[in-house]
Amino acid sequence: MFSFTTSKFVIIELIFVFPCNLHIVLVKEKMRLIHILSIVFTLFLTLVAPLQVHAQTKELPVAFSGSIAGDSASTRFFLDFDRNLSVQTFYMDKPNRIIIDLDETVFNFGENNKLEPRGLISAIQLGRISEGRSRIVLSLSAPVEIIKASLKKRLDEENYRFLLDLDSTDEETFTNLLQQQQLTFGTSGNIAQKGDRVLAIKKKEGRFTIVLDPGHGGIDGGAVGRKGAQEKDIVFDFAKVVKEVLMAEGPFDVLMTREEDKFMSLRERLDFSRRSKADLFISIHADSLKQKFVRGSTIYTLSKKASDKLSERLAESENSADLIGGLTVEEEVETVVDILVDLTTSETKRFSRRFSSLLVKNLNSEVKLIKNPQRSAAFGVLKAPEVPSVLIELGYLSNQEDEKLLQSKEWQTKAGKAIALSIYQFFETRMQ
Ligand SMILES: [Zn+2]
Repeated sequence: MFSFTTSKFVIIELIFVFPCNLHIVLVKEKMRLIHILSIVFTLFLTLVAPLQVHAQTKELPVAFSGSIAGDSASTRFFLDFDRNLSVQTFYMDKPNRIIIDLDETVFNFGENNKLEPRGLISAIQLGRISEGRSRIVLSLSAPVEIIKASLKKRLDEENYRFLLDLDSTDEETFTNLLQQQQLTFGTSGNIAQKGDRVLAIKKKEGRFTIVLDPGHGGIDGGAVGRKGAQEKDIVFDFAKVVKEVLMAEGPFDVLMTREEDKFMSLRERLDFSRRSKADLFISIHADSLKQKFVRGSTIYTLSKKASDKLSERLAESENSADLIGGLTVEEEVETVVDILVDLTTSETKRFSRRFSSLLVKNLNSEVKLIKNPQRSAAFGVLKAPEVPSVLIELGYLSNQEDEKLLQSKEWQTKAGKAIALSIYQFFETRMQ
């Protein structure tokens, strides 16, 4: 509008300096044309140009929310974008940092959504670095290893979530990770373009990682049978049987959360499963119940609300294992666990449920199951968001018959084989 007024003023001045009538007529004609052009120009300025500016901002992806959660052992960072875009993540030292390069992005978080540094992330800077590129710099309070970096469309949403999981590590490992990155991609100049490949999960083709988690251990003995059998020993012996059968059965790498009689917190078990990039996590227990007549195996999957009272009480007692080990459940840890459970994808839940159905089917033909053997409750140890996880109560040590059975080699082999068969069937369609 302003430029139009100015040009009109200039035109009128010009007319006054023309000397003859003919010129004035011509100038009048010209002026009419200029006037029309000016109107068109004004219209362009008032209507079209703002639309263009609008279109330009609309072209850029918008990061509209984000969060940092965790502690000095593990930290999770995520950002939500309104569309798909290219994101590359890499390590940088002096000082130690994680760099995330992405398509030019408008960072537009709401008032209540501030990215507060915490855990392993001590500071965060973000903004445009060059034409078409934005960068996020995460300063680190300790050396880290990137456990996961992914950008995925959110389920049931039209937007995308970038997820970064960092675990604390030592300086030497950080330097190695940095060097590997440089070895593969030369100088820092082109790391930014190819950094994503650095993060590709190295997995042996066609092999599956199974994590077996014998419950309790060390100072935490778990349930005690009427004849004195300890849960921690029974589940450990049983896990070894499953491992043996499973390794002979198929393309499985079988890991155990504990290889000896030692205390492990629920968090450590969960972290172990995630760090091992487990394809399946099986926690093994043999607890006790007030109802001494209850016996038989039960398969549990994760749910916020328990399927029944018995399951609810059992999960409460299992979740207090950390207290037995002398640890206090810090508020921060609880928050992280809550976030994790919210992030548990419906895909993970579906897989866990499918595996639990296979277990029920195969165990049913070999051993005694409890009434309604497929149950669910909020077991802390099942909360890894990306790992299908189940908890098996082999039986209940409060029941004398179960106590005796669970220690017999014959029973252990039968049940172990049924579990191994279920695992095989679970992965069968994904085997080459
Ligand atoms: Zn237990």
